[in-house]
Amino acid sequence: MYHMDSDTYVCDICGTQFRWEEAKEDYGEIWECERCAKHFCTRCFTKAHGITAFSEMLQGEMVSCPECYRKSIEKLSVWVRLGATLSMSKEEADIIFGEDRVLAKKCFARLLNEGGFILNGNCYAPEECVAEMNQKHETNYDFPRLDFDI
Ligand SMILES: [Zn+2]
Ligand SMILES: [Zn+2]
Repeated sequence: MYHMDSDTYVCDICGTQFRWEEAKEDYGEIWECERCAKHFCTRCFTKAHGITAFSEMLQGEMVSCPECYRKSIEKLSVWVRLGATLSMSKEEADIIFGEDRVLAKKCFARLLNEGGFILNGNCYAPEECVAEMNQKHETNYDFPRLDFDI
């Protein structure tokens, strides 16, 4: 926050007052976020993300406050259905299609984990999963977009 009367900036996180480009012991300098225009001090950023992230942020495209930086590095996730063909031995097929459903599930999971399948079908994110993703990550993606025939 900028105070015109005293020509100072206040860190919007910890409330410490600075002059522009003034370096304060323990607090560093004041910065302006190029994404949301909030002011923040070096100390508040490094407290949230560490000193390495701070120098990476300054070398990046935009000066970002701790919150905007968090959003910029966040990984988004969405639940998808994958169309695939599974390869298995006769022995494994006997288990997977057999009576023992617990063993069948274990065998199936092991084949998946070992990469015993090829993605070669319709892969898509269901509507409710895209909605859930949008809500969680504050995005606004259209539902039928992640839908591919591979
Ligand atoms: Zn601060
Ligand atoms: Zn920001």
